[in-house]
Amino acid sequence: MKKESINVAGDGLPKISHGQGSYVWDTSGKQYIDGSGGPAVYSLGYGHAEVREAIVNQLDRIMHGYRFTFTSDPLEQLTEILGNACGGDLNAMVFVCSGSEAVESALKIALQYHSARGDMTRRRFIARRRSWHGNTLGALSVSDFLERRAPFEGALLDASFLSQVNAYRPMDGASPETVAQCGAAELEAEIERVGPENIAAFIFEPVVGAAGGVVPSPTGYAKAVREICDRHGILMIADEVMCGSGRCGSFRALEFDDVVPDIMTVAKGLAAGYIPIGAAIYRREIHSLLVDAHGGPLTGHTFTGHTTACAAAVAVQTVIRRDDLLNRVTANGPLLLNALADALVGVPEIGDLRGRGHFIGIELVADPASKRPFDSNHALYLQVRREAMSRGLICYPSGGNVDGRLGDCVILAPPYNASDDELGEIVDKTSASIRAALHNLPRHAWS
Ligand code: PLP
Repeated sequence: MKKESINVAGDGLPKISHGQGSYVWDTSGKQYIDGSGGPAVYSLGYGHAEVREAIVNQLDRIMHGYRFTFTSDPLEQLTEILGNACGGDLNAMVFVCSGSEAVESALKIALQYHSARGDMTRRRFIARRRSWHGNTLGALSVSDFLERRAPFEGALLDASFLSQVNAYRPMDGASPETVAQCGAAELEAEIERVGPENIAAFIFEPVVGAAGGVVPSPTGYAKAVREICDRHGILMIADEVMCGSGRCGSFRALEFDDVVPDIMTVAKGLAAGYIPIGAAIYRREIHSLLVDAHGGPLTGHTFTGHTTACAAAVAVQTVIRRDDLLNRVTANGPLLLNALADALVGVPEIGDLRGRGHFIGIELVADPASKRPFDSNHALYLQVRREAMSRGLICYPSGGNVDGRLGDCVILAPPYNASDDELGEIVDKTSASIRAALHNLPRHAWS
């Protein structure tokens, strides 16, 4: 039996059979409600007839037009939809097949931009602890999931890491009120230490997902970062692979902070899991520079702008707009947090309940007064997942958010079109699963 982990697939997993709406069934006939849209991906649930039809229609015509030979209607439509959704001049883009590739392309676009300007010393990236940007070597280099990095140390890019910026767990010397300011000051100090002339970009998740357990940027942080980056000629990369594509209620999560990044990544929810697709989206002005210097962005892959994947994403984004789902997601955010708070009344181990839209994090602690986490040997977050699966609930467990090893969070990211009853079922089963996991811990777990 392999060690239970969220970093490697376990033994004895149920075999998936089929899905419809917010539900999925395994081959034994067991039904699960999807409380997390898988890994915060399936934003329209399963078996959406219109998305399926768009994919089949596209396959009937042509599956793929290679990007250096053809353009296509789906590619052009998706480019327009995303440009409009992002707003301003954030309308140049490179399509890829995953979040990691989107981040990889974002990092390369930043490097290429500085090369195009003759700034060949700007090669270094600044990132933050407790963030996840992907599994390819470049993306992993700016990521901070200790277990996923460890075997590759020594071969990764040398990046700078700042503290996580989390109102529930402010860095040393900060309070919830000053955490935004202290986080920005850390960025400024690191830029001064390394020298702005050596820094290509700062990358961060506007709402930290898997590695932090859904941590929204504290008020004012993103604006302060924007100002610091501008002042030092450093590009700002918003990794919205998990929090973007509408999950927090606006297409761009950073819209909430009224900030426009230079480069942004999307993937997971873009085509809602129907076909893999992601994108690095960046400012027109950067694109013009790349075109002048090198003919265009020197990144992308064989399947960049895959025609059927673009058709799936067009269908997903069209349904989201037509059915006004982003307003529904926005309105549901506080309702979900309140419903969870009610359902979890009398569970003192709920240290923090946070999030936005259909992106909720529940942090479990051994002592709410000191915020002391449980001993990582108990892997409480995985116990919650086990209890959830046994009750027919899919949730997304996240561990190590405190220091890379300690910390237990449960992430909920329901489909945007989940009904009120389905959201209620997710809340009830989440509460029951957390209560059961805590009940099963040995008494010494609290000491
Ligand atoms: N960036 C963020 C914020 C993510 O959450 C993830 C995946 O969880 C990635 C990048 C990598 O995406 P993928 O797993 O599709 O390569």
